[in-house]
Amino acid sequence: MYKTRIKKITEKLFENNIDGFVVNKPENQYYISGFSGEGLIIITGRKNYIITDSRYTEQAKNEAQGFEIIERQKGTSPFLISFHIIKDLGLKIIGFESHSLTVKEYDELVETYKNITLIKTDGFIEQLRTVKDSYEINLIKSAQKITDKAFEYILGLIKPGVSELDLVAELEFFMKKNGSKSKAFPTILVSGPRTSLPHGSPSERILQSGDFVTIDFGARFSGYCSDMTRTVVIGKPSERQLSIYNTVLNAQIKAIEYIKPGIIGKDADSVARKIISKQGFGDYFGHGLGHGVGLEIHEAPSLSPKGESHLLPGMIVTVEPGIYIEKYGGVRIEDMVVITKNGFENLTNSEKQLICL
Ligand code: ZN
Ligand code: ZN
Repeated sequence: MYKTRIKKITEKLFENNIDGFVVNKPENQYYISGFSGEGLIIITGRKNYIITDSRYTEQAKNEAQGFEIIERQKGTSPFLISFHIIKDLGLKIIGFESHSLTVKEYDELVETYKNITLIKTDGFIEQLRTVKDSYEINLIKSAQKITDKAFEYILGLIKPGVSELDLVAELEFFMKKNGSKSKAFPTILVSGPRTSLPHGSPSERILQSGDFVTIDFGARFSGYCSDMTRTVVIGKPSERQLSIYNTVLNAQIKAIEYIKPGIIGKDADSVARKIISKQGFGDYFGHGLGHGVGLEIHEAPSLSPKGESHLLPGMIVTVEPGIYIEKYGGVRIEDMVVITKNGFENLTNSEKQLICL
């Protein structure tokens, strides 16, 4: 698996006349080697290297096959060491991930290695990561199974008198006990008027009857994330709550049904946006419809008004329209779907008709 991934990368490098590539982003390192510690990876047409320090040397040996592990001394710069190796190998044109090198590090490299040409890249490995193989899809399914189970569990605890923070503690503990190594991202759990905050962090607010409660959360399994949002109501929903909820639900279902290979991200967004606008809530849906999910919680492709890429089989994206009304509240419903040869498979199994607790 890693061999195939590295082969794809080296082919891409040579097409672009690049002799070697320095990988700094942890998720990209994990993707091409299985190494989950701190370090740098150098990919060349021949040998590949992991530069790390004594905290991770043994781990690197265990996790990454086919790499030469180089232990750097404390206090040395991993970038300078990497380029020292690159110089010794006689490589002249080196790609690096522009988002992960500081200006200081860049200046230092240019100054020290005058005969090496540095090529800035953006999304070089991320692009390959957008299409998941069956192994990755299964890991994301496992992460989502934990998430679905945790949602069912937390439904039993949502009631007037408990705080948002209490519920988050219970939810995250449950996920850990059920196989999630860590949460995929900081859990969003907001209630009552705070549901108007699309990315509100949990507070000490005590839940009351009549509240909307929105929970956006995910598990992490073997490095891979899941991402789901559900909004429920405590007690009997008002007419206005029902109208908002059903608009979001309808937009979400129609946007998912639209998903298949070949469509463009922004067109899926527009399916949901039109439905929400038609009901008069157009001004209250500020974010994009969805995003790719994998080793990172937000990755390409984007399903927003700016999403220009075509969807391909194996991509995993979220579909998460929402309506947020300041000082009143809001609703978001989010599922994760994998694009298949003919359409999509929904990986999220939790109920999404309005649950009244
Ligand atoms: Zn989410
Ligand atoms: Zn999301």
